[in-house]
Amino acid sequence: MKSTGYVKQLDNIGRIELPRTLMHELSIDYRTALEIFNDSDSIVLMEHKDHCSICNKEDNLKSFKGKYICEDCIDGVISLQSFKIGS
Ligand SMILES: [Zn+2]
Repeated sequence: MKSTGYVKQLDNIGRIELPRTLMHELSIDYRTALEIFNDSDSIVLMEHKDHCSICNKEDNLKSFKGKYICEDCIDGVISLQSFKIGS
């Protein structure tokens, strides 16, 4: 991970403003959803991408009760159900 060279102060309710030039470089705008990650000594913002709630894959997603599940995991759950019915 490299430094962008920008240093921003949080405002009184914890917000930061991303520099417009950085947003342009990253091809993001005010509508972009960012996901916040952290570990013991860092905070990382990454563009949010919908992903499977079970395996984290981002392809072939279906929405169910506000969660995304990929077709592979749906097939896996269906096969478990078939196993249960067949036993
Ligand atoms: Zn999945």
